[in-house]
Amino acid sequence: MHLYVATSNPGKLRDFAAAAIPGMTIEPLPGLADLPIPEENGDTFAENAIAKATAYSLHAPGQVVVADDSGLEVDALGGAPGVRSARFADDRTFTTRANLGADQRNNLCLLDALASTREGDRTARYRCVLAAARDGHVLATGEGTVEGEVLAYGRGNSGFGYDPLFLLPEEGLTMGEISPAEKLKYSHRGRALRDLLSKVQA
Ligand code: IMP
Repeated sequence: MHLYVATSNPGKLRDFAAAAIPGMTIEPLPGLADLPIPEENGDTFAENAIAKATAYSLHAPGQVVVADDSGLEVDALGGAPGVRSARFADDRTFTTRANLGADQRNNLCLLDALASTREGDRTARYRCVLAAARDGHVLATGEGTVEGEVLAYGRGNSGFGYDPLFLLPEEGLTMGEISPAEKLKYSHRGRALRDLLSKVQA
């Protein structure tokens, strides 16, 4: 089986490659950078993943194209930032004095939103939904999660996004502290791909 994935993010590609099964090849969709970017205005990860997979599949006739949407769900915030994870600080018009990058602003915004939430109530999860499509039609979706807690301060520099704040309780380490190889064990993307493959092959 051959899959094109609609991402050029090296971290995501590594997660997908690690979850591949024997006989499967996974490659970035050729020419992705030059294609129009589909809107991500859905209320759910699934809506966004399906919108992207169906749109991108039209650029690779006859091929299976997989697209993802993912984010952080914090229980004390009713599941926010969720589908708005990349745009959390913008949505809340959260400003900082220093000129920070998007990930750092989002992390500070999350700490601010949880400032009065005590330790045991900071449960959260990363969720990823993948959609596979061919010629503009959805074939299947798959979902993966990893459970954790949001710390009151960041630890570790590896990873991206909310990783320094996301504690894996069974490891006692944040996603920003574990190595990329260890992170694969907990990858919500890898879990979503395995779920998707079980449905595409069924
Ligand atoms: P997207 O799937 O690239 O749209 O991801 C949306 C946002 O969710 C990212 O910008 C991150 O803030 C967050 N996110 C998704 N997956 C991860 C992860 O594995 N680690 C850290 N943050 C993540």
